[in-house]
Amino acid sequence: MSELSDLYQEVILDHSKHPRNFGRPAAAEREADGHNPLCGDRITVYLRLVDGRVVDVGFEGRGCAISVASASLMTELVKGRTEAEARALFRRFHHMLTDPAEPGPVEDDDLERLEPLAGVRQFPMRVKCATLPWHTLNAALSGKVAEVTTE
Ligand code: ZN
Repeated sequence: MSELSDLYQEVILDHSKHPRNFGRPAAAEREADGHNPLCGDRITVYLRLVDGRVVDVGFEGRGCAISVASASLMTELVKGRTEAEARALFRRFHHMLTDPAEPGPVEDDDLERLEPLAGVRQFPMRVKCATLPWHTLNAALSGKVAEVTTE
């Protein structure tokens, strides 16, 4: 069990030190800001939706290792997903982090990739760090299409 948590630690460290999809994609048309005052995490999520599908996603910001790793993993997982799929994945992830019952084996490939973050279940403050990027993603998905104007 401790070997497993070492592996999970490595995944979190790797993603927090080398975040994937960091930065604003050139074609991004939606964005939302998220802030977790309890920890000081700040994040901006950018995305481009085409026909209800996330074709590009990125993020900027700074925060603790958990929030950055969660944002990095999130961008990898939601790219190519429909809006509904992305929201459903967040619901399942949120459940994984907040359900007091000890989880059974994860049989969902997507959730399995988020399993390294499941350890925060024991630290309610940290749950906010792990879910901040996803709340911000939801806000960006709900956002109006940003219009660039020269006026
Ligand atoms: Zn944090």
